[in-house]
Amino acid sequence: MRYLIVSDLHSNWEALDAVLQVTAGRYDAVLCCGDLVGYGADPNAITDWARANVVAVVRGNHDRASVGLEDLEWFNASARAAALWTERQLTPENAAYIRALPRGPLPVASFEIVHGSPMDEDEYLADSFEATAAFQYVNALLVFFGHTHLQGGFIWRRHGVEVVSNPAWQGGTGPLRIEPEVPYLLNPGSVGQPRDNDPRAACLVYDSAEALVTFYRLEYDLAKAQDKIRRAGLPAVLADRLAVGR
Ligand code: ZN
Repeated sequence: MRYLIVSDLHSNWEALDAVLQVTAGRYDAVLCCGDLVGYGADPNAITDWARANVVAVVRGNHDRASVGLEDLEWFNASARAAALWTERQLTPENAAYIRALPRGPLPVASFEIVHGSPMDEDEYLADSFEATAAFQYVNALLVFFGHTHLQGGFIWRRHGVEVVSNPAWQGGTGPLRIEPEVPYLLNPGSVGQPRDNDPRAACLVYDSAEALVTFYRLEYDLAKAQDKIRRAGLPAVLADRLAVGR
């Protein structure tokens, strides 16, 4: 099976559209590590697409926040404003779908998907120290996660944790070969709001038969996504940050 794995779409339809156009024909099923909505201007288009196309998805903190399942005190002002705006926009069907999203870890074939980390859906796995702790709790050798909006991840080696950083951004490294009996925590990066200083939409394709993970970074119509955010009356910073990928 070839899986297109996406995460942190954040209501950015233009970014998702680019991902789907470039990866068309290269996958058999779509999986999502959470945060379909929040920040961007197209929560219904993204959720409609997820309902029709995604075979397994876990909830993210912004998904919870946009359907009243999260204490918004934990959110900064712009994230809180976007969550409240999203809650008003979602159709009843889409709100019900998001409210029913499962908490990770969610098993898929022989691997798992989570939003934050295997033990806590809200935990950020941003460095090798945090990953070392998380590797103690994994139930599968291969786990895909999101939440940090940083493409790459971590490999458990005998001598310590190996960091996979900006795999597509550096280019030319080719696909990552998944070795048997080696634990991996891998992040496709964020489709809709990357934060690794690269504004391009991020995703990955995992080919389980070939044991290969291919990371992608894709240009998209960023100006259109920004324009929609501004026209919707969402905080301007949410449009501005898309251009710098932070
Ligand atoms: Zn997110």
